[in-house]
Amino acid sequence: MIITRSLAEFAQAYSNLENKSDIGFVPTMGALHEGHISLVKESAKRCSHTVVSIFVNPTQFNNKQDLETYPRTLEADCELLAKSGADVVFAPSVEDIYPQEDTRVFNLGGLDNYGEGPRRPGHFNGVAQVVTRLFDIVKPAFAFFGEKDYQQVAIIKYFVKDLNYPLTIVPCAIIREEDGLAKSSRNTLLTPAQRQAAPHIYSTICKAKELKGKHSPQEVCKILSEQINSNPELETEYIEIIDGDTLRPITEWNQTENIRLWCAVYARPVRLIDNIGL
Ligand code: AMP
Repeated sequence: MIITRSLAEFAQAYSNLENKSDIGFVPTMGALHEGHISLVKESAKRCSHTVVSIFVNPTQFNNKQDLETYPRTLEADCELLAKSGADVVFAPSVEDIYPQEDTRVFNLGGLDNYGEGPRRPGHFNGVAQVVTRLFDIVKPAFAFFGEKDYQQVAIIKYFVKDLNYPLTIVPCAIIREEDGLAKSSRNTLLTPAQRQAAPHIYSTICKAKELKGKHSPQEVCKILSEQINSNPELETEYIEIIDGDTLRPITEWNQTENIRLWCAVYARPVRLIDNIGL
């Protein structure tokens, strides 16, 4: 596995790849865990080369404290990647990715009007900036993204099609801790009490499966957020039950076959997100 820490180093490693038409790409912000590694393994299984980027993208953070405290563990990340089938690690500097300010505004098809969109203004445009920049550099045939960030995958699929990128987006299932908590780099920032409380998010949202027949989608969201909030460590920002294709909140259960529940919950100052299919 080759570790590259600049655009120039990456270009050198890239030029030595034998089959450039079959590159699998896994973009990450580092602090890697089994969720990321599952994407790397999927790529290694399908593609002749796997490139993993590690870049904490400033343009997708709408909260300065979140950006500053985001965990950075490059050495441990590389050790993990070397065992997981990655061929090239690309860990560029901010200047490599943004030699000048990126002022591009993307058409996200309105998929950013719900969920994380209104709560994190500019977040998905920042994601589109970094992902397109990385796609232009890595030129993958396949790119792997986790359904942990359900809205992100939907938006990336949208602009990849809109901009005619010649690549396939592969969504991968959410990897969870044994207690159900969705694995996340931010989990390391939780206090022991918060870490103990956090699995309550997943166990509670799973109850939507039983409540579905008995209450409206809105009522279910209200019941579940009250149950999450009954834990003093947790504070629900939103729970929405949506059409998994349009991402619009639904008002009737029979509106779509593809029903998804997604939520954001604070264990302050850490913000955790999760989602399940219903
Ligand atoms: P991040 O480093 O948080 O930007 O995540 C990089 C990629 O890993 C994204 O496509 C995430 O959706 C994915 N990912 C993060 N956590 C998980 C998880 N628990 N299960 C599956 N994929 C994940």
